[in-house]
Amino acid sequence: MQTKASPHKVLFRKVLIANRGEIAVRIIRACHQLGLATVAVYSSVDRGALHTQLANECICIGSAPAKDSYLNINALLTAARISGADAVHPGYGFLSERADFARAVAAEGLVFLGPDADTIATMGDKVSAITAMKAVGIPTLPGSNGALGDDIALIDALADTIGYPVLIKASAGGGGRGMRRVDSAKGLKDAIELTRSEAKAAFGDGTLYLEKFLTHPRHIEFQILANGDHALCLGERDCSAQRRHQKLIEEAPAPGIDRGLIESMMRRCEQACRALGYRGVGTFEFLYQDGEFFFIEMNTRIQVEHTVTEMVSGIDLIAAQLQLAQGAALPKAPEVRGHAIECRINAENTLTQLPSPGRVSALQIPGGPGVRWDSALFAGAAVPPHYDSMVGKLICHGDSREQAIARMQQALTELDIRGIDTNQALHLRLLSSPDFSPWQKDIHFAAKLV
Ligand code: ADP
Repeated sequence: MQTKASPHKVLFRKVLIANRGEIAVRIIRACHQLGLATVAVYSSVDRGALHTQLANECICIGSAPAKDSYLNINALLTAARISGADAVHPGYGFLSERADFARAVAAEGLVFLGPDADTIATMGDKVSAITAMKAVGIPTLPGSNGALGDDIALIDALADTIGYPVLIKASAGGGGRGMRRVDSAKGLKDAIELTRSEAKAAFGDGTLYLEKFLTHPRHIEFQILANGDHALCLGERDCSAQRRHQKLIEEAPAPGIDRGLIESMMRRCEQACRALGYRGVGTFEFLYQDGEFFFIEMNTRIQVEHTVTEMVSGIDLIAAQLQLAQGAALPKAPEVRGHAIECRINAENTLTQLPSPGRVSALQIPGGPGVRWDSALFAGAAVPPHYDSMVGKLICHGDSREQAIARMQQALTELDIRGIDTNQALHLRLLSSPDFSPWQKDIHFAAKLV
């Protein structure tokens, strides 16, 4: 242990996991390894799901639609009260970035395993996040520097100065939704109106901003751990393999980028965390193009792809998150060892790429050195249509990138999930694409192969 322990020491013994699927399983495992008791919650279609089997207790919180269960704050707080849980882990997705949830959990006298509600609110609103980042010296894209008003002539002049193409983005956007590329002044007005009405409908907030659209960036993000006073950046991940702005493959470290530049970005992220008094795990997301980094957003929660950082750093990020919340000091800066790649395995039709829910009839999991499978699947498990289609994460580690890729190709071939369709063939195509080697070319390469 390196730094002073945080003065914010809070003890808790029983953690309610406000989530489902692989991340609920992942959190339960970490809790048990630390001697913490766990409470799983589930919707009626998740009865018997793996997370409910592994937790010490489980409570039904409602019916299948997420709004009636995993997004129902009152039901979750009632489950915490009934079970005597004294902490709540939100996982990712669902309520993990909802400031009102963090506030409601704290108001119940429970520990919320994430930063405080005000930090979540600032970072959840992309306009305020960009403003906060600029103030602490993080490079951002040329853009509107705030919300767009109604004066189209002003916006037109701004877009002209920045230069087309530009991107109109919803401040409350997420999950790759709420953004529209505009290539010339002609399309600007319509794009603004359309994105605003979509944003209002999808996020309940029509606030928009504008930024330069980068034509060939890579998506590079930095993982941080912080305890309010100190911060440690655990390096970067390359998440350029995306489809419809959603990540498919992530790897660490990011190949082909000057290590000195990466190091300096790591220090800047740490400084930003200290300046913000940031607490917990978090990710700074950047676009990287022509040797420059530009901030796009911060995620104030554990991310799906945290696993690749774990594999190269040897740090269990969920355990670290729990320990930090209990006042532990930050771990020592780890040596980055080898290379790790993650493929997100989605239940989806190979041809239509639409979700393919169903029941898993048989399951064969790959193994061998450097192979990790994070999933809530088992033979007989139901994959309901109501939630995200990701059913597992295959993570491979190797001494080199080539070895990690070779292990992943073998593992993808061995992984056999019967009863539902998956995107394994797509992953094999992406991994063998000349644009994936020697590094992921840009955020657009995968779209050409899917
Ligand atoms: P979300 O919160 O919906 O994930 P992000 O702002 O993180 O939105 O962007 C998601 C993805 O959209 C990025 O990884 C990138 O592929 C693309 N993107 C976002 N901003 C830009 C931009 N200015 N230029 C080009 N692509 C962008």
